[in-house]
Amino acid sequence: MSSQVPADQRRRSQPGQASNAVRAAPAYSTHRLRLNPNENHRPQSYEGCGQDFSPELFSKMEKHLPPHMLTVPRDVKFNFMKDIVDRYLSSRERRRMSELKSYREKIISHYQPLHTDLYTVAIEKYFTPRFLKAVNENSEAGYRSIMAEPSPGVFTFEIFLPQFCELLLSEVENIKKWVHDTRIRIMQPNTMVKCGVALNDFGLGTMHDRLMDYIRPVSKLFYSDIGGDSLDSNHGFIAEYGPDIDTHVGFHVDDSEVTLNICLGDEFTGGNLYFRGIRCDQHVNSNTQSEVNISVLQVPGSAVLHRGRHRHGAQEVVSGYRSNFILWCRSSTFREMKNYKKEFWGWCGQCQAEKEERMRSSVAAARKKLILTEKQPGA
Ligand SMILES: [Zn+2]
Repeated sequence: MSSQVPADQRRRSQPGQASNAVRAAPAYSTHRLRLNPNENHRPQSYEGCGQDFSPELFSKMEKHLPPHMLTVPRDVKFNFMKDIVDRYLSSRERRRMSELKSYREKIISHYQPLHTDLYTVAIEKYFTPRFLKAVNENSEAGYRSIMAEPSPGVFTFEIFLPQFCELLLSEVENIKKWVHDTRIRIMQPNTMVKCGVALNDFGLGTMHDRLMDYIRPVSKLFYSDIGGDSLDSNHGFIAEYGPDIDTHVGFHVDDSEVTLNICLGDEFTGGNLYFRGIRCDQHVNSNTQSEVNISVLQVPGSAVLHRGRHRHGAQEVVSGYRSNFILWCRSSTFREMKNYKKEFWGWCGQCQAEKEERMRSSVAAARKKLILTEKQPGA
């Protein structure tokens, strides 16, 4: 069992862990963001503030500022938010983030996109009419009418028109040609994908954010137990499989709360996804129960939506090539909350099984005690 960890998440230390001990104490440790954003507030631009992080990060954080901070000057807001960011990242992590930012800037300043549409135009233009209708309806019944659920929590549905798959595939070919011609070494999207492209690095982050805006309402309905109602960041990438590259991907969990996996094509046989139970970090390698072992066919233009902690893999591509666009959607609120919990019986199959076993044992012990008491009246 492996855990896919994307390049921009590797070695991230957790708040409060020993590795943070060398860090200077924050100047304003009482500074806090609000859990729920103020959706009516229009954030300012943080371009040119000279920080290591993307200006968009600060614009997104601004909506979470306490009410009294929303109207103060930009530099006061910036310092407040920077203090919070500094508190959560070690100096090593900050250095690495800064390097990643330079790496992305270098690529984006040199790479010439083939289809600017993908970078600038609203993504809903490429959704199938059925998916758009369900989005507009925004009800559980509406989503269920366009989705199949082969196993609890695994949903399949048509999402994109063929035109989108063709555009994205040809953009990826253009990226690969550019990488080949310029001989620039690019980072792979995560530790398990040998042949892929991290699309955020090539400027497609806006498209990812927009797509996540459409996935958030579905996730709120079906995955609120694992942070589906508070998705706030993502990592999008292409993974390719075929005879002279990787043919399959092993059993793993994703570094996401919710994963949207879209098959783009091209022509292939095999490559089904398989799922084997939802597990927390502690039980990621525990046994699979037969009833949770399912296989899902990959169809170009169709999506599979599942929990990141739903253990899965992809079977061998027997012929042809398969390319998938994968969006890992994350919730910082859920990750923070996980630090304070020991058991996840609400969604982890093994935590659930162990809880049921403890209840069975305690009922059996109580029954045994009762029988003994009945046999020894007055005891
Ligand atoms: Zn568990």
